[in-house]
Amino acid sequence: MKGQLFCTTCGAPLSNELNFLSTKDPAVEAPTLADQQPVTDHGTAYKSDKPFITSFDEPNSLDFVAQIWTNPDDVEAFTELVGDSRRLGGCCGLSGCGGPNIRCKSCKAEIGTKMTDCWTPYLFIADPDGTELRKLET
Ligand SMILES: [Zn+2]
Ligand SMILES: [Zn+2]
Repeated sequence: MKGQLFCTTCGAPLSNELNFLSTKDPAVEAPTLADQQPVTDHGTAYKSDKPFITSFDEPNSLDFVAQIWTNPDDVEAFTELVGDSRRLGGCCGLSGCGGPNIRCKSCKAEIGTKMTDCWTPYLFIADPDGTELRKLET
Protein backbone atom coordinates (compact mmCIF):
# COMPACT_ATOMS: atom_id res chain seq x y z
CA MET A 1 0.00 0.00 0.00
CA LYS A 2 1.26 3.47 -0.88
CA GLY A 3 0.72 6.01 1.86
CA GLN A 4 1.96 9.15 3.51
CA LEU A 5 1.89 10.42 7.09
CA PHE A 6 0.15 13.70 7.86
CA CYS A 7 -0.08 15.79 11.04
CA THR A 8 -3.47 15.38 12.74
CA THR A 9 -3.13 18.84 14.30
CA CYS A 10 -2.36 20.99 11.25
CA GLY A 11 -2.65 18.64 8.27
CA ALA A 12 0.91 19.16 7.05
CA PRO A 13 2.72 16.19 5.48
CA LEU A 14 5.15 14.46 7.85
CA SER A 15 6.82 11.91 5.59
CA ASN A 16 7.78 11.14 2.06
CA GLU A 17 5.44 8.92 0.09
CA LEU A 18 6.05 5.47 1.48
CA ASN A 19 5.37 1.90 0.54
CA PHE A 20 3.69 0.32 3.60
CA LEU A 21 4.23 -3.32 4.47
CA SER A 22 2.15 -5.04 7.14
CA THR A 23 3.82 -7.47 9.53
CA LYS A 24 0.50 -9.35 9.56
CA ASP A 25 1.00 -10.19 5.88
CA PRO A 26 2.54 -13.70 5.74
CA ALA A 27 4.39 -12.70 2.55
CA VAL A 28 6.21 -9.90 4.40
CA GLU A 29 9.48 -10.85 6.02
CA ALA A 30 9.66 -9.79 9.67
CA PRO A 31 11.69 -6.60 10.10
CA THR A 32 15.16 -7.00 11.57
CA LEU A 33 15.89 -4.96 14.68
CA ALA A 34 19.67 -4.57 14.94
CA ASP A 35 21.72 -1.88 16.67
CA GLN A 36 22.47 1.12 14.44
CA GLN A 37 20.84 -0.55 11.46
CA PRO A 38 17.88 1.04 9.67
CA VAL A 39 14.81 -1.15 10.19
CA THR A 40 13.43 -0.11 6.82
CA ASP A 41 14.97 1.14 3.60
CA HIS A 42 14.22 4.61 2.32
CA GLY A 43 10.70 4.77 0.99
CA THR A 44 9.49 1.71 2.88
CA ALA A 45 7.55 1.62 6.14
CA TYR A 46 6.13 -1.13 8.33
CA LYS A 47 2.85 -1.41 10.08
CA SER A 48 3.88 -3.56 13.02
CA ASP A 49 1.42 -5.51 15.14
CA LYS A 50 4.07 -5.79 17.86
CA PRO A 51 5.24 -2.82 19.93
CA PHE A 52 8.88 -1.79 19.92
CA ILE A 53 10.11 -2.29 23.49
CA THR A 54 13.56 -2.35 25.00
CA SER A 55 14.39 -3.39 28.55
CA PHE A 56 15.66 0.15 29.16
CA ASP A 57 12.22 1.70 28.76
CA GLU A 58 10.56 2.39 32.09
CA PRO A 59 7.77 3.42 31.81
CA ASN A 60 7.33 2.61 28.18
CA SER A 61 5.76 5.25 25.97
CA LEU A 62 5.89 2.90 23.00
CA ASP A 63 3.75 0.10 24.39
CA PHE A 64 0.91 0.30 21.86
CA VAL A 65 -0.10 -1.34 18.59
CA ALA A 66 -0.30 -1.04 15.69
CA GLN A 67 2.93 0.89 15.24
CA ILE A 68 4.15 2.57 12.10
CA TRP A 69 7.90 2.25 11.65
CA THR A 70 9.78 4.30 9.09
CA ASN A 71 13.33 5.15 8.20
CA PRO A 72 14.06 8.42 10.10
CA ASP A 73 15.38 9.96 6.88
CA ASP A 74 11.89 9.75 5.39
CA VAL A 75 10.46 12.17 8.00
CA GLU A 76 13.55 14.38 8.34
CA ALA A 77 12.44 17.17 5.98
CA PHE A 78 9.04 17.59 7.65
CA THR A 79 9.93 17.34 11.32
CA GLU A 80 12.28 18.64 14.00
CA LEU A 81 13.38 17.75 17.53
CA VAL A 82 11.15 18.69 20.47
CA GLY A 83 12.36 21.43 22.81
CA ASP A 84 12.26 19.31 25.98
CA SER A 85 15.83 18.09 26.54
CA ARG A 86 14.63 15.25 28.80
CA ARG A 87 13.17 13.67 25.67
CA LEU A 88 16.45 13.91 23.82
CA GLY A 89 18.56 11.56 25.95
CA GLY A 90 21.03 9.07 24.59
CA CYS A 91 24.77 8.45 24.71
CA CYS A 92 25.71 9.18 21.10
CA GLY A 93 22.32 9.69 19.47
CA LEU A 94 18.68 9.66 20.48
CA SER A 95 17.58 6.73 22.66
CA GLY A 96 13.87 7.52 22.30
CA CYS A 97 13.31 6.36 25.89
CA GLY A 98 12.00 9.65 27.31
CA GLY A 99 8.83 9.86 25.22
CA PRO A 100 8.08 11.42 21.84
CA ASN A 101 11.10 13.44 20.68
CA ILE A 102 10.01 14.56 17.22
CA ARG A 103 7.49 17.27 16.39
CA CYS A 104 5.78 18.68 13.32
CA LYS A 105 7.85 21.47 11.76
CA SER A 106 4.72 23.47 10.94
CA CYS A 107 2.70 23.41 14.17
CA LYS A 108 5.17 21.91 16.73
CA ALA A 109 2.78 19.11 17.75
CA GLU A 110 4.54 15.94 18.94
CA ILE A 111 4.29 13.29 16.27
CA GLY A 112 6.65 10.46 17.09
CA THR A 113 9.83 8.97 18.47
CA LYS A 114 13.17 8.76 16.73
CA MET A 115 15.94 6.37 17.77
CA THR A 116 19.48 6.84 16.54
CA ASP A 117 21.64 5.62 19.41
CA CYS A 118 24.40 3.02 19.32
CA TRP A 119 22.25 0.44 21.14
CA THR A 120 19.02 1.07 19.23
CA PRO A 121 18.05 0.44 15.64
CA TYR A 122 17.86 3.46 13.34
CA LEU A 123 14.12 3.96 13.49
CA PHE A 124 11.23 6.41 13.59
CA ILE A 125 7.97 5.35 15.29
CA ALA A 126 4.93 7.47 14.50
CA ASP A 127 2.69 8.56 17.38
CA PRO A 128 -0.84 7.31 16.62
CA ASP A 129 -2.49 10.41 18.12
CA GLY A 130 -0.30 12.90 16.28
CA THR A 131 -0.16 11.29 12.88
CA GLU A 132 -2.63 10.16 10.28
CA LEU A 133 -1.78 7.63 7.59
CA ARG A 134 -3.45 8.50 4.31
CA LYS A 135 -3.62 6.02 1.50
CA LEU A 136 -2.35 7.33 -1.81
CA GLU A 137 -3.81 6.43 -5.16
CA THR A 138 -1.32 4.55 -7.28
ZN1 LIG B 1 25.39 5.49 22.16
ZN1 LIG C 1 1.42 19.93 12.43
